[in-house]
Amino acid sequence: MALIDFHCHLDLYPDPAATAQKADDEGVYVLSVTTTPTAFVGTAALARPGSRIRTALGLHPELAALRRHELVLFKELLPKVDYVGEVGLDGSKPHKSTLNIQAEVLHEILDLCAASGGRTISLHSRGASEMLLDMLEFEPRAGRFVLHWFSTGQMTIERASRLGCWFSVGSSMLLSKSGREAVSAMPRDRILPETDGPFAMHNGIVREPGDQGRVYQAVAELWGCGSAEVEATMTRNFRRLVEASQRNSQERLPSNT
Ligand SMILES: [Zn+2]
Repeated sequence: MALIDFHCHLDLYPDPAATAQKADDEGVYVLSVTTTPTAFVGTAALARPGSRIRTALGLHPELAALRRHELVLFKELLPKVDYVGEVGLDGSKPHKSTLNIQAEVLHEILDLCAASGGRTISLHSRGASEMLLDMLEFEPRAGRFVLHWFSTGQMTIERASRLGCWFSVGSSMLLSKSGREAVSAMPRDRILPETDGPFAMHNGIVREPGDQGRVYQAVAELWGCGSAEVEATMTRNFRRLVEASQRNSQERLPSNT
């Protein structure tokens, strides 16, 4: 089985090195997202050379107000990465008061990505999905947008689809009715698996990277097909996105001629 986890916080598991090693041994393709630029170097070191783990440079919206000064480091590290995340907006009650600062930080991040040729970006949007789409619409050159755990209404999902966004979904999202309705509204050729581990739980146990492919079964029930078909579709989607990211990366490299 091809295990893919397009949004996982490897560095936040109790034993990051052991978790990364296990994921590597199992051949899981992991997008290892980070929450601050300071965390990037240490987290990137969890991925051994030749592994299927890719590390994304992030500045989580819940930390954006406190860590705004780390945008300097973000800018410095950006040329080294193909992937950015976790970034975005959080308009939920505990973080609503910093939403303006979050938007300024995200605006700067999208600008930096656009100015340096675009990136593949994993985005958080809790309680601020329309505002996030407004910002992405304003800066399409920032790259390819992957909306993580995008549990919103059908109209918003259709809007995101029209903007060309991708979606990463986990089996925790599919536990709620609203989550299942959201996933049903997403275009099947732009969905990827994620866990959001270690934040996502399964029967009280933290989901491990790849989550043993449980998301395939959960989505299969929704699509009314077999889990092998979901796996094939999501694997195809993943390859397409990675190829687009690699092409983009090649184009950014200064030519020697
Ligand atoms: Zn996350």
